Amino acid sequence: MPLTGKQLEEFEALLKRRRQQLVTELLEDVARSRDESYADLAGSVTDLGDEALADLLADLDNAEVARDMRTVRELDAALARIADGSYGSCADCGEDIGLQRLRAYPTAERCIKCQEVHEKTHAGRGEPRL
Ligand SMILES: [Zn+2]
Repeated sequence: MPLTGKQLEEFEALLKRRRQQLVTELLEDVARSRDESYADLAGSVTDLGDEALADLLADLDNAEVARDMRTVRELDAALARIADGSYGSCADCGEDIGLQRLRAYPTAERCIKCQEVHEKTHAGRGEPRL
């Protein structure tokens, strides 16, 4: 079953909340590393778009920041899918991803079957497989 408008609104609110949380954390990291206050930094950044954020984080090159940035991008992509109406449909087969899976992984792009296939063919994470 496709998601209802109400469910979409809930996911949108959830995704936005997570993004905001992450961005706040990232800005706090930047503020710490620059010895500036978070308030000063947040005040100077009016548009917390991807680029503005990536610029700020450029000197803060560590694994945790990179992971958080990746998550922000995933959240942005999910929000874009809500905006264009493709949220909740599998990017590969077009079937519904399913409410249960979306509740567990709100940024899921694929249904569980396609995700498994994707991970097998793109075995990037973990040990290299031959
Ligand atoms: Zn699929």
